[in-house]
Amino acid sequence: MASQEIEALASALARLPGLGPRSARRAVLWLIKRRETALTGLVDALATVRDRLVECPTCGNVDTTSPCGICTDTRRDARSLCVVEDVSDLWALDRARLFTGRYHVLGGRLSALDGVRPEDLNIARLIDRVAGGGIDEVVLAMNATLEGQTTAHYLAERLEGYPVRITQLAHGLPVGGELDYLDEGTLAQALRARRPIG
Ligand SMILES: [Zn+2]
Repeated sequence: MASQEIEALASALARLPGLGPRSARRAVLWLIKRRETALTGLVDALATVRDRLVECPTCGNVDTTSPCGICTDTRRDARSLCVVEDVSDLWALDRARLFTGRYHVLGGRLSALDGVRPEDLNIARLIDRVAGGGIDEVVLAMNATLEGQTTAHYLAERLEGYPVRITQLAHGLPVGGELDYLDEGTLAQALRARRPIG
């Protein structure tokens, strides 16, 4: 029977995506045995994330600066905007290093099933950014899921009438595919072959 503190840590870890109670307990043991090395590093990294990470008021990315490093990077093309569902998609696209513009994170996807409505997502700020001018192209990089595509079409409608080219990723992406799980080659191909939304 483990102590209360250890149980508390194990059940906190067990709530992480991909970790069940069993692997959480193994992780706790692993950390206890490496208290001075791995555990200290983990505690410091967690404290930094807790204390310093903020959501970018412009794009919805998370970073230690506000606005985020991408929004303030003058080497990036401010005329090109890539809209993604989640920060994990931004990371996936940015790892592929093909998109040199800026991003906009919606914070989810429209879903009748889960009751996610347009006003629940970071859409008003997207419209504001586009309405503010200086943007030539909006790439809708939603996941190849039904909800992702519904979201893309909704956004395309909302952006109609603004002087921007609206494109979406070429979906040689597997149906149901989430960007985060794609290898960089597939993602790069989808981005290169992006096409007007129809
Ligand atoms: Zn930003």
